[in-house]
Amino acid sequence: MSRGVKGAAIGIDLGTTYSVAAVWFQGKNRVEIIPNEQGNKITPSCVAFDDTELFVGEGAKNQITRNPSNTVFDVKRLIGSRFGDSRVQKDMESWPFKIIEGPAEKPTVVVEFKGEKRELAPEALSSMVLMKIKESAEEFIGTKVSDAVITVPAYFNDKQREATKEASTKAGFNVIRLINEPTAAAIAYGLDNMADKKWYKIDKNKNVLVFDLGGGTFDVSLLTVGKKGVVVKAVGGDTHLGGEDFDKTLVDYCIDKFKKQHGEVDIRGNPRALGRLKVACEKAKRDLSSTTITRIEIDCLYGGIDFSIKISRAKFEELNLTYFEKCIQLVEKCLIDGKMKKEMVDDVVVVGGSTRIPKVQRMVEEFFDGKKLCKSMNGDEAVASGAAILASRLSGNNGKIQDIVLIDVTPLSLGIEVKNMEGENGFMKVIIPRNTSIPTSKVEMFVSNENSTRAKIAVYQGESDRVKGNTLLSEFNLSGLTLGPNGTSKIKVVFDVDVNGILCVSAEEISTGQRKTITIAKT
Ligand code: AMP
Repeated sequence: MSRGVKGAAIGIDLGTTYSVAAVWFQGKNRVEIIPNEQGNKITPSCVAFDDTELFVGEGAKNQITRNPSNTVFDVKRLIGSRFGDSRVQKDMESWPFKIIEGPAEKPTVVVEFKGEKRELAPEALSSMVLMKIKESAEEFIGTKVSDAVITVPAYFNDKQREATKEASTKAGFNVIRLINEPTAAAIAYGLDNMADKKWYKIDKNKNVLVFDLGGGTFDVSLLTVGKKGVVVKAVGGDTHLGGEDFDKTLVDYCIDKFKKQHGEVDIRGNPRALGRLKVACEKAKRDLSSTTITRIEIDCLYGGIDFSIKISRAKFEELNLTYFEKCIQLVEKCLIDGKMKKEMVDDVVVVGGSTRIPKVQRMVEEFFDGKKLCKSMNGDEAVASGAAILASRLSGNNGKIQDIVLIDVTPLSLGIEVKNMEGENGFMKVIIPRNTSIPTSKVEMFVSNENSTRAKIAVYQGESDRVKGNTLLSEFNLSGLTLGPNGTSKIKVVFDVDVNGILCVSAEEISTGQRKTITIAKT
């Protein structure tokens, strides 16, 4: 099938649970969602292995109950993380597949493929999903596709962004931009709200809050959408808060019920039972968005025993209330960061599959004093659509919105480790505060320690004033410094963040010109 889009660049929403890809058709002046080989618009971000075959997408999702220990999902919660991270450890309890600590502390998934043990990094698994998307895109568009805009949660740190970029490159994509998911949704919203879908017809700036609650992550962004384009004021969120957590509370609840009904049997050690329970709980959760009561029923769940319980919407809401409240607190914080009162928000746009939960919608509406939520955009498609519009613009194909400006921000503060007044190490000196518009460049001067020919530059990301509460992005030594008393060498440290949100740090001794640069992205 040839649709004849020359040099197509696509937008990809690489989700925790599902991924979506889209393309802007210039001739038709609109975005189209790229269907997968089954003709569906969303593709499970799932990979499965068996004795003969590799399955990606829907084929893989179908394996969860049949072949649970070799069916991998939720990779987005692993990408750019360390094996020892407490959240990875906690997630592992409920995953039926095995994870070990791989090189560079990477959480590495162990599967059996064609009778052999394989160890796979999260980047490799994500690239398999992306390759499948690439195939579908080329089939749909009718040309080779390599340029892509890939979306990431606004709250992803530098390591998570870099790992996502690596996965995309591995899949054969040339990543023309990484863009924050809510910003992509705002671009789609901008186009959706224009008269005749022409951006330049927007007559008034609108303050928009995008509330994006997906499968694995929660993002909130405060933006101004207007004639000139999209300007992000502030972002916030949690990269470990989403539908998977709600499923997990239900799974835990069922495990406890099963234990109570049948003595001290814990099904946690049984991947097949766990896989089947997860599928049933996710389905029950979805049902509860449209009915107030449902049943979870599984034949022969464990040791030949059937499992059956009734669960009400009220119970589901009670089990997950702390998570829902956390979302509202993050909205509040984002408004404070963006220096905006909630009354000044013109539209609250909800995207992401988990915003279908009635309680979540109600809580957001109540927070905004009864404001009706903007649900006009398809929550599954908005992020990919925005990315496709940007992809087309960046590759010079999009006549209508060619001049649109897009200004994003850094989600987390960036800085280096310094001593406090008492000379103790371990303190964070922020060089680029969170929510600074990007691209940006900041310079800071430091002095060397007494009689030291080396200075260690340790780069961190996060909001804690102690570095141990933040993420270490990289460290390096600037050597050959001039010897002398405290402060003999003056060191200029430069932080540059590019349009993708990726950081490059350089340090230079002023007197000698001794210089060292690292791109955190490449470490
Ligand atoms: P996304 O990452 O935006 O694709 O969202 C996927 C998440 O949305 C998964 O955790 C789904 O279980 C969840 N989801 C999809 N539809 C519903 C629904 N009707 N009610 C509750 N959660 C849903």
